[in-house]
Amino acid sequence: MTSEFFDQSTATFADLGLRPALVKRLADRGYLHPSEIQQKFIPPALAGLDCLGQSQTGTGKTAAFMIPVMERLGDSGQDPQILVLCPTRELSEQVAEESRKISGDGKLEITVVVGGRPLRKQIMEVERGVDVVVGTPGRVIDLFKRKSLSFSNLKAVVLDEADRMLDIGFRPDMEFILKNCPTERQTLLLSATLPPEVERLASRFMKDPIRVDISIKNVASDTVEQFYCTVDPSRKIPLLIHLLREEKPKQAIVFCRTRRKADDLYQLFRDRLKQVATLHGDLPQSKRDRVMKSFREGKVRLLIATDIVGRGIDVSGISHIINFDIPEHSDDYVHRIGRAGRLSSSSVGRAFTFVTQDQGNELTRIEMLVNRMIPEYKVEGLDHYTPRPRRRHV
Ligand code: AMP
Repeated sequence: MTSEFFDQSTATFADLGLRPALVKRLADRGYLHPSEIQQKFIPPALAGLDCLGQSQTGTGKTAAFMIPVMERLGDSGQDPQILVLCPTRELSEQVAEESRKISGDGKLEITVVVGGRPLRKQIMEVERGVDVVVGTPGRVIDLFKRKSLSFSNLKAVVLDEADRMLDIGFRPDMEFILKNCPTERQTLLLSATLPPEVERLASRFMKDPIRVDISIKNVASDTVEQFYCTVDPSRKIPLLIHLLREEKPKQAIVFCRTRRKADDLYQLFRDRLKQVATLHGDLPQSKRDRVMKSFREGKVRLLIATDIVGRGIDVSGISHIINFDIPEHSDDYVHRIGRAGRLSSSSVGRAFTFVTQDQGNELTRIEMLVNRMIPEYKVEGLDHYTPRPRRRHV
């Protein structure tokens, strides 16, 4: 894998205290240099300390938490030693996939336990004996209550994208799980943002966590060129068509705020374009899986998605992100644009955010978050009103 981001680093995985066999396995997978989060997170986590990392998808964070917990595993038994909780099914799959890459083929039993998939198969897999369970809180609790899944042997619990899990409303489930885990465990928490709810969770369930912050601002803005377009709400679709024609994206995600909007746009484009698909929470899991697969394989070039499902997508070929609707929460902006210009891609991605007349403040909040002025991309005739004055806060 060629990666400008990783190759800028001169550190090696051996420097982080990993065993030579693992260093070699990582090198075989193309992981030669640890990313920033890996350099900062792995040593304390490997020492068994609780760690709280502020970092987002695309920075190598999955390996940052999986490498140390896997290194600390005891002998395999019936019950899992590692539990990773994720907000979505897609992210759970990706974490499991990345864990398999790191662990070496077939060395560890890694199972995904998520809603929307046949329960029986998951019960069977867990009851056969597993080392690592990755899943969404609801289904994890389901299996725990059925006594198929035991927490009694857990050495480490990871809360991945904790802020998003809380946003979705998983707080009671997360608390239930953590209360039922052995107290003598390691807890790792990864979150793109640290709102008070995440801090509260950390102070209740973690022991003096080591804090690792890799600035979300730098990650996104260094690899993605960002623009905003002023647009009249009624002219968003012509603007989107214009951008697709001009930019000719290799692969693009168009983000909408609601499932309904995503579906409406999809219906509109389905007849005009080939290789277009939609991904939102109303679709059955089997359909979501098919869409993700086609997107990963490059068969789908335009994906119309909502934030929840769009968030965990880790596909290296995405050249463009189009925020058809400006995100409701500024943090989502960073998540959305982080889908483009991925680590494994050598080219820089481009992100366009559609801003209507009443959304100037929302754009300003985003600019403060990413700590830069986002330049305007002018498309004559589609911005039916006078663009707002330039801001100068940054
Ligand atoms: P993540 O932030 O975990 O979603 O990782 C983003 C991508 O970077 C994934 O495709 C990983 O396989 C890849 N990756 C993670 N760590 C490294 C590394 N040290 N060297 C090269 N690629 C990596």
